[in-house]
Amino acid sequence: MSRPKFLLDGMLGKLARWLRIFGFDAEYRRAVSDEELIEAALREGRILLTRDIDLHRRARRRGVRSLLVEGRAEAEKLAEIAEHLNIEYEVNPRESRCPRCDAPLRPVSKEEVRGKVPPGTYKAYEDFWICQGCGKVYWRGSHWRNIEETLEEVRDLLRKRRTAPSKGYEAS
Ligand SMILES: [Zn+2]
Repeated sequence: MSRPKFLLDGMLGKLARWLRIFGFDAEYRRAVSDEELIEAALREGRILLTRDIDLHRRARRRGVRSLLVEGRAEAEKLAEIAEHLNIEYEVNPRESRCPRCDAPLRPVSKEEVRGKVPPGTYKAYEDFWICQGCGKVYWRGSHWRNIEETLEEVRDLLRKRRTAPSKGYEAS
């Protein structure tokens, strides 16, 4: 099964960054009309993620696959989406997309990033990735633990949700 692609409304920017880290193509548009979001989701075959019940309903009437995101914390939102779409998250830099711009990353040699990262970082790490869109360089720095912790939290929530009686979702 190919990975679902997402389109997120203006309230879900943080969630978009998490989905990208977990390797999903997650576009995030701010300051666009509901109509533009619906059109883009249809045109690009993206699942709409929104916190706006009116937008959610309108999108579904137009045949868009839409999911109303209700969770408060990012981990809750991620668990909701995974449960509904039956997907798993993993963090693998080969699959990750740039949290900043959604473009895929590619592994680069240490030599290629010389001068592009702080000297201490250059010395301390062996593996680097570069965004094919905006050129930002990534490595498994201090944020890495935070990512793994969030992933664990999401998996815990998901286990609980999957064993609890279904609440039923208003989604396609
Ligand atoms: Zn980028």
